[in-house]
Amino acid sequence: MLQTTERHALFIDNESVAPASGESLPVIDPSDGRVFAQIARGSAADVDRAVRAARRAFDGSGTEPAAGPWGRTDAAQRGRILRRWADLVEAECETLARIESRDTGKPLAQARADAQALARYFEFYAGAADKLHGQTIPYRHGYTVLTLREPHGVTGHIIPWNYPMQIFGRSLGAALAAGNACVVKPAEDACLSLLRVAQLGAQAGLPPGALNLVTGLGGEAGQALAGHPGIDHVSFTGSPDTGRRVAQAAATHHCPVTLELGGKSPQLVFADADIEAALPVLVRAIVQNAGQTCSAGSRVLIEASVYDRVLGLLAERFAALRAGPAHADLDLGPLVSGRQQQRVREFLSEAQVGGLDFAAQGAVVDGAPAEGFYQAPVLLGGVPPAHRVAQEEIFGPVLVASRFEDEAHAVALANGTPYGLVAGLWTRDGARQLRLARRLRAGQVFVNNYGAGGGVELPFGGVGRSGYGREKGFEALYAFTALKTVALHHG
Ligand code: NDP
Repeated sequence: MLQTTERHALFIDNESVAPASGESLPVIDPSDGRVFAQIARGSAADVDRAVRAARRAFDGSGTEPAAGPWGRTDAAQRGRILRRWADLVEAECETLARIESRDTGKPLAQARADAQALARYFEFYAGAADKLHGQTIPYRHGYTVLTLREPHGVTGHIIPWNYPMQIFGRSLGAALAAGNACVVKPAEDACLSLLRVAQLGAQAGLPPGALNLVTGLGGEAGQALAGHPGIDHVSFTGSPDTGRRVAQAAATHHCPVTLELGGKSPQLVFADADIEAALPVLVRAIVQNAGQTCSAGSRVLIEASVYDRVLGLLAERFAALRAGPAHADLDLGPLVSGRQQQRVREFLSEAQVGGLDFAAQGAVVDGAPAEGFYQAPVLLGGVPPAHRVAQEEIFGPVLVASRFEDEAHAVALANGTPYGLVAGLWTRDGARQLRLARRLRAGQVFVNNYGAGGGVELPFGGVGRSGYGREKGFEALYAFTALKTVALHHG
């Protein structure tokens, strides 16, 4: 268990370094509301130091690009380092899970799954590093044209608090495999596991400067990273408003951005679905990580003829759910912070004032510290599709149920928010499966399943308010490279 006196520095050039300001920020345990550690409050000066370290690792001290120790490391060797890193994470899985669980409030089982997913991302991108190649293009007589996939150079990564290890894995695994040197700004509410993961990266063989972490506040270190002229690509996961600010800051120096901004993802349940198979998946899709998941299935749309039955079955399951301290490993832990708890409560009081049907509610276990940020899971029934709780991302354990009359109505409701990240479809009708997979406005559509167990290999990202660009799988590798076309005229 972590000690209350624990203090954490920044991680730059493979070393722990104090922030320029000398200031620190408290780390609060969401299960009991107590401060148990301090992190460094990084500022623009620290971000600048980290970017310069990454630039040296990538370019070296000369003027030739990619001539630094990391820039010259060949793809197979990058893969070997990532592979070793995966093994080190696997070996420390339990320690990392305990750190993450205390820092974020997530139940231990979820934190263990996150550590395993981190190792799996490194493993996937270790294998992919030397398989990322360009093409030759048929062109006019006398020419040979080829494309090269080159790393951007120095990439910036702004990581949220909901899945620090998983999002670090998908973002850094791909960026480093593609050959970039990286600067990371983890969330102020959840960075302890990543500081340890960075040390393991150095142990695995990353040269100084290839990976740097600057902890601190979003409006300070985060903003400075997004707008730093030495950054060649920014990858951001978080809220739409902050995503817009990040894109604006990056645009000041024409820097490309990948934005993953969450969603209001629907699951459509048709009368012909295998409802018994759907039920646990519908519940898990919103309860996992206490609903603080960008791809949470936060809306369930149910065909009118089975609406009452499905809502009743969901209500039984919701009533049995239990929230409690992270170490108790129940269905859900506390929310990450008092701020997030307040946000969820505001949505629920709006639902109450609006007279919505609280179809079922789970419970917070007796003995959970009163200072913890707990929220019992809630099922809201018969929600008008235009209501704010059916339109906006709550980011808490609140499932919003609405009914639809037919397929066209279902599609209109599913597509009826500004978001478009993920959609789930439950039906046995094969033609409908394919028809709707095309009509649903989302970056991923799952048919008779949801989330596909995380899917490290599966491209992920949204449309509309959910953002743009793709992470995971090979698509992420492409995003972390710039394509260069080389045309040779040889006659
Ligand atoms: P933010 O989008 O503000 O935070 C996400 C990340 O961005 C954090 O690392 C944060 O740092 C950083 N950040 C904050 N401000 C800036 C800035 N001006 N420039 C650069 N980086 C910045 O989310 P919140 O934590 O405020 O959560 C609010 C809501 O956002 C949630 O309720 C949820 O709806 C949504 N969200 C969605 C996520 C997703 O996975 N899609 C993840 C997290 C939140 P720091 O935390 O240190 O301030």
